[in-house]
Amino acid sequence: MSDKIIYLDNNATTRVDDKVLESMLPYLKEEYANPSSMYDFAKKSSDAIKEARVKVRDFVNAENEKEIIFTSCGSESANTGIRGVLGMHKDKRHIITTKVEHPCVLNVYKMLEKQGYKVDYIGVNSAGELDLEQLSEAINDDTALVSVMYANNETGVINPIEKISQIIKSKNQNTKFYVDAVQVAGKIPIDVQACGVDMLGISGHKFHAPKGVGVLYVNSKTIITPLIIGGHQERGKRAGTENVPYIVGIGTACERAQEFLRYEATEVKRLRDKLENGILKNIYNARLNTGVANRVPNTSNIGFEYVEGELILLHLSDKGICASSGSACTSGSLEPSHVLRAMNVPFTAIHGSIRFSLSKYTTEKDIDYVNSVMPGIIEKIRNLSPYQDELAELKRRKTL
Ligand code: PLP
Repeated sequence: MSDKIIYLDNNATTRVDDKVLESMLPYLKEEYANPSSMYDFAKKSSDAIKEARVKVRDFVNAENEKEIIFTSCGSESANTGIRGVLGMHKDKRHIITTKVEHPCVLNVYKMLEKQGYKVDYIGVNSAGELDLEQLSEAINDDTALVSVMYANNETGVINPIEKISQIIKSKNQNTKFYVDAVQVAGKIPIDVQACGVDMLGISGHKFHAPKGVGVLYVNSKTIITPLIIGGHQERGKRAGTENVPYIVGIGTACERAQEFLRYEATEVKRLRDKLENGILKNIYNARLNTGVANRVPNTSNIGFEYVEGELILLHLSDKGICASSGSACTSGSLEPSHVLRAMNVPFTAIHGSIRFSLSKYTTEKDIDYVNSVMPGIIEKIRNLSPYQDELAELKRRKTL
């Protein structure tokens, strides 16, 4: 067990930025008024929300801050956007999404299918890129909604959102478009107007704000029914006393993310590539599951043939390194990730696929350390593998 933590699981959650925390503290201490109250003491709280709304508006380039709704997380944003827009278009029963969405979208569609909706799930190629032809062919007059994630949480593969929006609107002007942008916030610029999206969700804890706050952008031409009904907060679209400190926090996180976008595109990407190249060079039969697909700068998904991903994670954890695998341990059997399955990752590598996700806090030393220990970890696990003949053959081919 190591004392030092090398955190390479930033697609799961991130460390809170000191400046974010600093901006929140007054609203956790002395400025505790309910922002809806009439007295002067509440003005600072209500002004702080207004200010945060403007920061988020600028971060996603919305036309108007009234298009910004604060929620509790990315899952709530997706649920509110998707179910809310369908609530306004009850005559239409067809929805399109992708096979590789996050469960907070996929499981909403599974529920909607049970309620009689027809859902088309669009596939991806072996690099994780969406089949745009299949998407285009699926859109018809009855299509109420298309939802496509901006970037995939397991692979980091970026979908061409502007192009997808053009396809949707050219086939059916009335079809609404929801984009789960949770994995791009803070990694690449977001421009909802240039991309032509109707609704978009982000989550604070994925870009250095705390857990417990998210944003749903809904453009002024799109009307949704609220998921949480109660008071008049968030223009009646999301009831509940506003979480002032966390709203302030996500506002500051947007500002900070904007400042660091260039750093993500250069330094974070350089370190990610260094990690990736080190692993691919020094470990035989490791494969970059996304090939040359366009990815966010921080994510790498690597498959190690004939190795169990969970075992790699345990060995990494022993050395203080945090990463993740796509598998979910369900009912005693290790189910491979639905994303890697949709990509047809070979069965020899699908169980041994690891996601490394970096952040602005990742250092050169972190990456050098991971690169120095990975070959030994994989070698150790492979030495205990029942697939010794297959591994010997792989090694022989590699050294030819
Ligand atoms: N969408 C994507 C792509 C995600 O990666 C996640 C979280 O992992 C979510 C949505 C859900 O976000 P939250 O944890 O804020 O509900």
